[in-house]
Amino acid sequence: MPFRKVKEIIFIGTGTSSGVPTVACLTDPEKSCKTCMSTLTSEGEVNIRRNTSLLVRVNHEDGRVRNIVIDCGKTFYVSALKWWPYHELRNLDALILTHPHADAINGLDDLRAWTLRKVIQEYIPVYLTSITFETIQTLFPYLVDSKQASGGGDLPAFKWNIIDINHPFTVEGLEFTPLPAHHGKYFTTDEPYIYVGYRFENISYISDCNFIPDDTLTKMQGSDIMILDSLDYKEHPSHFSINQAINISRNSNPVPKRTYLVGFSHGVNHSELINEMKQLQLNEPLLWVRPAHDGLKVREKTDWNLDLEEFFILEIKRVLRHTDPIQEPIQEKELAKQEVAKQEEPALPPDFFDNSSLNNSSTKDSTTMEIDEQEWINFQKEISKETQVSNQIANADDEELQRDRDEMQEREQEFCLARLEKLKEVAKRVKEIRDNNMKSEKKWMDWRAQKIL
Ligand SMILES: [Zn+2]
Ligand SMILES: [Zn+2]
Repeated sequence: MPFRKVKEIIFIGTGTSSGVPTVACLTDPEKSCKTCMSTLTSEGEVNIRRNTSLLVRVNHEDGRVRNIVIDCGKTFYVSALKWWPYHELRNLDALILTHPHADAINGLDDLRAWTLRKVIQEYIPVYLTSITFETIQTLFPYLVDSKQASGGGDLPAFKWNIIDINHPFTVEGLEFTPLPAHHGKYFTTDEPYIYVGYRFENISYISDCNFIPDDTLTKMQGSDIMILDSLDYKEHPSHFSINQAINISRNSNPVPKRTYLVGFSHGVNHSELINEMKQLQLNEPLLWVRPAHDGLKVREKTDWNLDLEEFFILEIKRVLRHTDPIQEPIQEKELAKQEVAKQEEPALPPDFFDNSSLNNSSTKDSTTMEIDEQEWINFQKEISKETQVSNQIANADDEELQRDRDEMQEREQEFCLARLEKLKEVAKRVKEIRDNNMKSEKKWMDWRAQKIL
């Protein structure tokens, strides 16, 4: 597993500017808004959404994990009151801003809670574009220049760092690549309003946009996790709809392992959207899309390091042993596993890969279908083994919220479906390689390494 600086991410907020619930819905005599009304129940708590904001927790060489926040909007302090103690956080080591809208910057004043009389820390470094800085200067001059304060009030302490959206910059040892996107347009000039999301390591974050230019899409390619704006089911002039966000992941190559949607209005109900996304995944197994929720913590170990390598190596060995097995030292444990598999599973046709009749396309199709069915049966067995292991991991992890635990188990099962698709792809590719006389073990190993890693 490659060393990662990002230890985990925590969704501080996942709602649109107005947040969820709204006063209008809670005081509506008809009580007609299902999502807002659900927030009064413990099951519907997951629909409480504050302004979208992300906490990136970064491993540092001195051992103290750094807390880097992206965006600090109107509800940031309310979120912090809930999630800082809940996740046992203390410092706010840096703030990165995406754009100067109220739901991204209006919480700046409250950051005095960290810096006043150096109660937690001396100051907070802020990273932002010159346009965002100028807007803050206009809206909150006293935050930029304490001489502008009228006296008597306590001020937060910031160190301002202007970034160039064309170049990556480093915060606490972690590199951030700016991801410019369109977020509506100026009514006066029709020019697009530019928002700046960020890519860091294998994660791309764009919380407010209605269009992502090709240059930015290129910078996002290869992300394991995409976090995307998704206001509602309907299209909107300055935000992605759910379908528009899904299409970004669907059209990415490779499809990200995880896509989290954020920025919801009260038109979106969390549990309904999860069910819809599960249905979607039945048709498109590689497309794992879920709504994030406030407080959700995603950690590499359990959530996005999918550890496919061991699984595929075993699977590939099992398929290949009927033709030309790769000669590698096999450890006793693996050997025992394979022996069990041999007894339990009917053998594949011995000439699956080398049968010249498969070059005939009609024969090839029908044979492939039989093999797919066989793979499915075999795969079901893997699913039950994998699920047992997942359960053990989940039970041992008492730090997670209960709902995250349940969701993780579901994900493991769902991801098995995705693995089946990968496996089919592997089997197909193996046959192609054989057909093309690529029998050199080195070439095969190189391909396999690229495919798996
Ligand atoms: Zn509502
Ligand atoms: Zn905005």
